[in-house]
Amino acid sequence: MQLEEPRTALPTTTLSAVWHGMGDLRLEQQPLAAMGPMDVMVDVVGCGVCATDLHLLDGSISLYRPPRVLGHEVSGVVRAVGSAVSHVSPGDAVALDTSVPCNTCFYCREGRPFNCPHRIPVNAGFSEYNVVPASVVYKLPPGVPPSLGVLAEPLSCAIHAVERGEIRPADSVAIIGAGALGLLVLAVARLRGATHIVVSDLDAGRRQVALQLGASRAIDPSAESLLSVAREMTDGRGVDCAFEAVGTQATIEQAFELPRQGGTLVQVSVPPVSARPSLPAYELFSRELTIRGSYIRTNEFRRAVDLLGTLDLSPLITHHFALPRIHDAIEAACTRQGIRVVVGQA
Ligand SMILES: [Zn+2]
Ligand SMILES: [Zn+2]
Repeated sequence: MQLEEPRTALPTTTLSAVWHGMGDLRLEQQPLAAMGPMDVMVDVVGCGVCATDLHLLDGSISLYRPPRVLGHEVSGVVRAVGSAVSHVSPGDAVALDTSVPCNTCFYCREGRPFNCPHRIPVNAGFSEYNVVPASVVYKLPPGVPPSLGVLAEPLSCAIHAVERGEIRPADSVAIIGAGALGLLVLAVARLRGATHIVVSDLDAGRRQVALQLGASRAIDPSAESLLSVAREMTDGRGVDCAFEAVGTQATIEQAFELPRQGGTLVQVSVPPVSARPSLPAYELFSRELTIRGSYIRTNEFRRAVDLLGTLDLSPLITHHFALPRIHDAIEAACTRQGIRVVVGQA
């Protein structure tokens, strides 16, 4: 194996936060995989704490099995590249996609890599270093600091959600939840041409950022009815498209009321598997609603990385903890402090 200009000896182990089961996250020194010709070693700069991580930790979803290193919103700086890697070089700021699809199964050939039953997750962001296949490594646009690269992954999910919603110029939109995902959906819906956007969140700081990102209204649902505001904004009809970005049974049921006749509801949050929202079937029929799930992404990651060079998303990163303080980071995210909590280099 040949490496390009290794300035110092490469690390062979990394400190990582290993998930061992419900509520059990331990800091452990782990061996790093040996570098192959198509691998890249990355110094992790940051990794966002996402609802998916919290749900895996509290046992409310079962996407993966423990033990494994969590963290899938990963950015860093390239430390070394394998001999056959040409699209990035040591020193490049990068964001990492989260899995490698098999490219041969039915779903891969349908262009749905996240439905691939054989996909290999490479998300191990709660670590000092990662060795990953070159195919998941994306160079950030010039001038974008590696710390902002953590938003590439959730931004790609937001682009996917807005495409699922088929937003048109001048559409009206309601977004329940102004966490990172809801705010990124807002930013992308604006780019796609939505002009009347109401966002609902209990947190005043999040509502402030929603207004900065172009929301027409940002309401406190404990003080105002989102449904009334959405109808007021649309001559009583309801919005063209509603996005549910909280993930509770109650907010999903609430989101169902928001679209106009012939409108669309996109569920982009990660609800617990136990959620069983009741949907009035007659209204599904009579309002001719379209209800769509939005699961991760298909091919939006490259565009998300590109958009990081255009959008100012720095207000979304509100908390930062060094890796040894990951338990404090998880606590901050669980208690919905700020917007995005990031773990990584100080
Ligand atoms: Zn996530
Ligand atoms: Zn596949």
